[in-house]
Amino acid sequence: MEVFNHRGICLKEGKRAIYLDPANSRPDGAVTHAHSDHLRPNTHMTNPTADVMKVRTGAKKATTHNYHERFKINDFELEFVSAGHVVGSAMIECNGLLYTGDYNPYGTVTSGRAEPQECDTLIVESTYGKPNQTLPDRNQVLEDLQAWISTTSSNDGGIIGAYSLGKAQEVIATANLAGTTPTVSNEVGAVSDIYKKYGVPLEYIRYEDLDEKEKPGLLVTSTSATNGKKPNAAVQNMRKQGAKVARVSGWCAFAKWALRGVDAGFPISDHADFSDTMKFVEECNPKQVYTVHGSTKELAKQIEKKLRINARPLPKYGEVAIESFN
Ligand SMILES: [Zn+2]
Repeated sequence: MEVFNHRGICLKEGKRAIYLDPANSRPDGAVTHAHSDHLRPNTHMTNPTADVMKVRTGAKKATTHNYHERFKINDFELEFVSAGHVVGSAMIECNGLLYTGDYNPYGTVTSGRAEPQECDTLIVESTYGKPNQTLPDRNQVLEDLQAWISTTSSNDGGIIGAYSLGKAQEVIATANLAGTTPTVSNEVGAVSDIYKKYGVPLEYIRYEDLDEKEKPGLLVTSTSATNGKKPNAAVQNMRKQGAKVARVSGWCAFAKWALRGVDAGFPISDHADFSDTMKFVEECNPKQVYTVHGSTKELAKQIEKKLRINARPLPKYGEVAIESFN
């Protein structure tokens, strides 16, 4: 089987090919999860991914599968395995190859965790592929976030900006642990309803459902609503009353831009950090690793140096000798 980058991650055997996280919608493609850089309609996906696609984009066309259900595309046998990234997120197994998509082996409160799988070939994401990109202890950061939520919601209010799919639900779960029922934007509410459908217990109330005189203690909304690009009425009203603003993103640990315009930042990620990645690769025990998405060169170098496993960024079609291809 040949593997290379061509309109997505292409797996090819003779004249047959399939596409993982393809660049375009196509029935011979399979997608790992519902973040917009991976999601394409009219492909194979998990049931929750299809549900999120429907509420966020309106697209309905998909061939859906459960985790661990074996299915075929062009005679390639595939299986979705939990990736621990967001609801419905999957790693893809196919003939001794494992593609992680975006994954989290540490695990999230709301989406489980990615378990290493023995494989011959591993295609691994490299979002935090540099050796200094190791996140602080997650439980400690979650404790700090809980304390921030308790304090701000009992004072002038708190606003948290987070990705509407994945991070926002981690924040809601953390607020619930702190004894707070957060108010959410419609966008966050629509995705959170799908988490509830798949058995994740989350308590929240939509901003538009509040009585006029009710003041939200904590508002969970999209990042763009808090960073000044698209402030919504809820954010503006709460800001006027002195609410504090926080961002929840792994980048708060590594990048100054992530802390711009906010009062606090909490480095919680739904991606594997550098040390999780190295451990995951070692436990999958592959013969060959290909790196994709992010710091691909740095990660490949570290895997070769520290784990002594062949590794390189996934080649593009044309960079390596591959049997003719259309
Ligand atoms: Zn993602």
